[in-house]
Amino acid sequence: MKILVSSCLLGEDVRYDGKNSSIAMGSSFTFSAKEIFMDILCTNEVYSFCPEVSAGLGTPREAAEIVSIEKPFKVMTQNNEDVTIPFLVGAKQALDLCNEEEITVALLKSKSPSCSNKMIYDGTFSGNLIEAQGLTARLLSENGITVFNETQLSELKKFIKTA
Ligand code: SF4
Repeated sequence: MKILVSSCLLGEDVRYDGKNSSIAMGSSFTFSAKEIFMDILCTNEVYSFCPEVSAGLGTPREAAEIVSIEKPFKVMTQNNEDVTIPFLVGAKQALDLCNEEEITVALLKSKSPSCSNKMIYDGTFSGNLIEAQGLTARLLSENGITVFNETQLSELKKFIKTA
């Protein structure tokens, strides 16, 4: 099965801070989570994608949060730069890739203003999380692509088995 995966989860240094969120090498993941992840990687066709880098935002870059979670969306950096357009461009590029390659499932990084499928920071840069999706995860979901995050690897594995 074809799966879109956040590049940072695959170990690519594309995060805003120039680091990655590698599942395979990260100390915050259990051995069992790593095993499931490696099994998914080895038995499926993985498309690595970072919407923010794809849209031209450099690495490292300023941290950004969504300050308006409904249309018209607004994404701002901590220093008050409006980065809404690149975030929307990255989301559209992710959707275009899924449509071109007929990808129907994604494994995306939690808590990211682009990739999160459940919770994001509330736009005040104070560490508070709210229930909302990142712009890429939201656009993919709205277009019928099922999005999981790195805490839902067992669910993703089950989904792949029954697809
Ligand atoms: S935009 Fe997504 S893939 Fe890129 S660094 Fe952030 S969470 Fe990872």
